[in-house]
Amino acid sequence: MPIFISIAFVHYCIFLICPQIALDEINSIHWFRKGLRLHDNPALLEAVRDSDTVRCVYFLDPWFAGSSNLGVNRWRFLLQCLEDLDASLRKLNSRLFVIRGQPANIFPRLFKDWNTSQLTFECDSEPFGKERDAAIKKLATEAGVEVISRISHTLYDLDKIIELNGGHPPLTFKHFQTLVGSMPPPDSPVGALSRASMGRCVTPVSDNHRDKYGVPLLEELGFDTEGLAPAVWPGGESEALTRIERQLGPDLSTVNFESTRKTASPLLPSPLGLSPYLRFGCLSCRLFYSKLAELYKKVKTNGSPPISLYDKLLWREFFYTAATNNPRFDKMDGNPICIRIPWDRNAEVLAKWAEAKTGFPWIDAIMTQLRQEGWIHHLARHAVACFLTRGDLWISWEEGMKVFEELLLDADWSVNAGSWLCHSCSSFFQQFFHCYCPVGFGRKIDPEGDFVRHYLPVLKDMPDKYIYDPWNAPIEVQRAAKCVVGVDYPKPMVNHAEASRLNIERMRQMYQQLSRYRGLSLLAAVPTSPIEDLNAVASPSTGRKHSGLNSHHGEAHLPKPP
Ligand SMILES: Cc1cc2nc3c(=O)[nH]c(=O)nc-3n(C[C@H](O)[C@H](O)[C@H](O)COP(=O)(O)OP(=O)(O)OC[C@H]3O[C@@H](n4cnc5c(N)ncnc54)[C@H](O)[C@@H]3O)c2cc1C
Repeated sequence: MPIFISIAFVHYCIFLICPQIALDEINSIHWFRKGLRLHDNPALLEAVRDSDTVRCVYFLDPWFAGSSNLGVNRWRFLLQCLEDLDASLRKLNSRLFVIRGQPANIFPRLFKDWNTSQLTFECDSEPFGKERDAAIKKLATEAGVEVISRISHTLYDLDKIIELNGGHPPLTFKHFQTLVGSMPPPDSPVGALSRASMGRCVTPVSDNHRDKYGVPLLEELGFDTEGLAPAVWPGGESEALTRIERQLGPDLSTVNFESTRKTASPLLPSPLGLSPYLRFGCLSCRLFYSKLAELYKKVKTNGSPPISLYDKLLWREFFYTAATNNPRFDKMDGNPICIRIPWDRNAEVLAKWAEAKTGFPWIDAIMTQLRQEGWIHHLARHAVACFLTRGDLWISWEEGMKVFEELLLDADWSVNAGSWLCHSCSSFFQQFFHCYCPVGFGRKIDPEGDFVRHYLPVLKDMPDKYIYDPWNAPIEVQRAAKCVVGVDYPKPMVNHAEASRLNIERMRQMYQQLSRYRGLSLLAAVPTSPIEDLNAVASPSTGRKHSGLNSHHGEAHLPKPP
């Protein structure tokens, strides 16, 4: 009772001195997760609108960081994003609060300590994000805190797409395109947080802010940084905005609608690449979309735009839509849209693939680039995904997806799982009779093998002729190149021609059986002849027409892969 009286008395005194503070003060917390940006962040604008204080928080559990299976490049990218966010907030006299721990444990205390009236965040469309947010919303409501969330990580409200499709996510890209084509265009991006939009809103910052809430170093998260090469992809909103400006800025002569890649070799990282920035939300997809739309208007006054970045953004949206209500989207078992394929389990085989020891320079160079830098070109992803699964090794796509999840900077639960489902012919798209050759595909893209030499220096003196199949080089050529296969570089782990022939046949039989039960409309058109087009991209010597780097390989009547 005496305690109650004294608290009430303090409140009364505050009320007498400054009634506004005691009664009407609006204190906001903005919770960053993805969406690590100040531009086009409608939930962040809500946090400062009519508020007296705002605190921008990011939760990071050092224990989880150290024990998680995410690679060091990904953590470094994230920490750079947070540093950049903090630097931008400082320019507005605010700061980022990096809170060590789990949101569900810590929010209740923050609500109390900071006398919080509202909590804002960007909507997360992924099943686990939705579950987490529902739990926090409950905690907030119990604490009398209003929750405001806004959609800005996707172009569309995914629930509306699903509603338009009778309650189910569309499962072909063409159908998806038709549905979104019938919807109003995506909302325009909102203005960036600025001093003007902050209005009277301030951030209370204590002297020991850095100690308590600073962005941690990699070492604090348990990473050994000795010998860590500089980041090829610097994280953060500032870098993302520089890239988009370079890519789609006012200088029309630099515009390339087909792709963001403009390096000498498209396989190397480009200073214009955007996927890690879109993944972490350092770049708003709506800003990207609106810049594209503006430029199309300027460049093409009539006619529809070419197959382009628009479509790529839509593929991202397609996978988000397919995954939003499917918590088993990244699994084969219990996933209603995934075909069950009896993949082999073989840890040794998987490790050779993941550690770039397959003996196929094209595959090993890609996997080395992935491990060292955290990004690989889209067609390189095709190549290694096909090789691991239906092409050569017959290992489950789930295993490949996990390796990508660990190493890719842009690894995105929905897009990563969706792409693996697709490329292993487990869902969405089933051209199982087209298979990438781990020799011919690389040679087609980069005939001199510069990419291979860059990432596999052991092969740097191998003549162009043998750079993709060094085992075929006469022993004296191998010796002269100081790379004897089986000694300095592994022998190929499989006979590609045999393995892919067997695997395509397995797929064909399985699809034929499935089509009896489920009808061809759901499944791929199964070729009636035993095996069609074994080496669609495999060997230039077959005389088959190859599709170029910017196009895809496929039959006209089947959907194109992403
Ligand atoms: C097995 C496999 C796994 C993949 N995993 C991911 C992933 O985890 N995260 C991811 O963002 N992309 C993933 N992709 C898609 C694609 O390879 C990358 O988005 C692309 O290589 C990024 O390069 P970029 O920045 O030059 O993008 P651009 O080619 O310039 O495209 C611009 C943006 O569009 C989106 N996009 C482009 N292509 C696709 C696509 N096919 N599917 C979905 N979105 C696309 C990306 O957000 C990208 O940043 C995967 C592809 C494969 C085959």
